[in-house]
Amino acid sequence: MARPEPPKLTPEASKKDWSISDFEIGRPLGKGKFGCVYLAREIKSRYIVAFKVIFKEQIEKYKLHHQLRREMEIQNALRHPNVLRLYGWFDDSVRIFLILEYAHNGELFKELREAGHFSEKQAATYISSLTQALIYCHENHVIHRDIKLENLLLDNEGSKRHTICGTPDYFVPEMVENKTHDYAVDNWTLGVLCYELLYGVPPFEAKSQRDTFKRIINVDLSFPSTHGVTDEAKDLICKDASLNDSSKRLSLEKILEHPWIVKNAHPEGICPK
Ligand code: AMP
Repeated sequence: MARPEPPKLTPEASKKDWSISDFEIGRPLGKGKFGCVYLAREIKSRYIVAFKVIFKEQIEKYKLHHQLRREMEIQNALRHPNVLRLYGWFDDSVRIFLILEYAHNGELFKELREAGHFSEKQAATYISSLTQALIYCHENHVIHRDIKLENLLLDNEGSKRHTICGTPDYFVPEMVENKTHDYAVDNWTLGVLCYELLYGVPPFEAKSQRDTFKRIINVDLSFPSTHGVTDEAKDLICKDASLNDSSKRLSLEKILEHPWIVKNAHPEGICPK
């Protein structure tokens, strides 16, 4: 179901010259690598948003101007129920402010850590919502490259995506080996994520980063006998996260048609508790 546009934060309005005085800033929602995120309200419309504050000094230090601008333009243009909206941005002399859709239920990471691991119905619902978001992104020539639990935020119903930097557990073989990577990068990480949702730990976890890389390159994937994970779920994981040859990985469309997804995922992305 399409979400209503916020009254004052439409795409046209994103070009408006927003300033900090247009917003009331509330409690902090989290801290990222390059700044803090706050709950905020646009004063005139009373529309609730998340406000990401990035310090220019940090962006300059890591020479990330171009990357940040590109990511902002991409995110601003994407429109999908499972893709977090960026409504607009503005800056002052030291900070950049991103006006983001507020994800009410926070990080999937936190929910998983609290639960330990998810049921097959929960995991399949999240994987299906994310796959639908990725199909939309790929159709628009966007490769996410950075899918991981911390980047997945939850609204009241399903999962949404947002972006930060990579962690080794989720690096794909072609990135570790420094080969050029393509859309199948996202398919690999979907398999890895599916494993972690079901078992509560990532599949290639190791003591050091080097050992994690080794396990990834050797596709050292094993399924513990805990949590009663079904063969159908393992089949989906193997067809994405155990294949070094990216061309053999299950396509996103085929993931949605996979019997495990068809049987377990909620059709509207509403995650069972
Ligand atoms: P980031 O800088 O994007 O890594 O964000 C840091 C943290 O702030 C995230 O891990 C979330 O806990 C929180 N956060 C970021 N964006 C939002 C949002 N749009 N809605 C709710 N919480 C958010």
